[in-house]
Formats: sequence, structure tokens, C-alpha cells
Amino acid sequence: MNTSIIDETTGRYLPIQYPEEMPFWKAAQQRRLVLQRCDDCRKVLYPIGPTCPHCGSNKFTWSEMSGRGVVHNFVVYHKPWVPYYRDRVPYALVQVQIEEGPRLTTNLHGVSVSDVRIGMEVEATWEELTPGVTLLQFKPRGGK
Ligand SMILES: [Zn+2]
Repeated sequence: MNTSIIDETTGRYLPIQYPEEMPFWKAAQQRRLVLQRCDDCRKVLYPIGPTCPHCGSNKFTWSEMSGRGVVHNFVVYHKPWVPYYRDRVPYALVQVQIEEGPRLTTNLHGVSVSDVRIGMEVEATWEELTPGVTLLQFKPRGGK
């Protein structure tokens, strides 16, 4: 979604929070998933931006999402690209298609890499990286 830098304390990428994305980040701190819904065609916009990619409208409303979706695809990383993953490889990077349509690239918690499957039903969970940064993550539906 945007450029990141590696945080020295966590050893992870921390997202840069652009002004137009702040409703998303503030809701994340409350462990709520909100995205932009187009006021004209009613589709959900993602990535966050000023214009609907479906109809070209620039009118939208930040709307609560269900937080439910399915694994659309995934890759397994065997190389730790950032220090945080040095002792955590292999790990899966997944693309979750949420019920409202968009596909979000994310991590999957609460399941071993060998058990990740395309079509797996998942739901949002949250990970506070720093006091100002809570990340949207996913877990198997009904899992921990
Ligand atoms: Zn639209």
C-alpha cells in the first residue's frame, strides 16, 4: 500500500501513515476494519485512494467491513527479509479476499505454514506493533 521503513525496536516494517489513510489507521487502533465505500457505485475501494477504480467517482464514505474473508492466494517465505523474521521462517504471506470484495495482503496468525490453504475461511485480528501502529492481520475463522 505504501513505503515502509524497518523499525529498530521491533525489527519490522512500520507503515507510513499518509493523511488520506488516517481513518483506516485510527479505526485499526480500535480494532475495527474500515475502508472506503464509493457513494456512487457502492463498491469498496482498495487500495485507499481519492478515486473509485470501478466508476471514477471521488465521493466515498468510510465504512465498517465484516472482517471476514477467504485466503485468495499465498506465498511461503523461507528467507527472513527483516530481522523480526530471523527465527520465524518459513512464514506465509497471504492475500485475503474480504467479503466486501477487495484483496488485502497480510499475515495469517494461529495456523502453521503447512496448513495454509487457498479458500480457507479467515477473520480479522489485530496486532499492536507500537502505541501508534496497530496492524490488520487475519486468523482462521473461529481460531485464536
Ligand atoms: Zn464507484
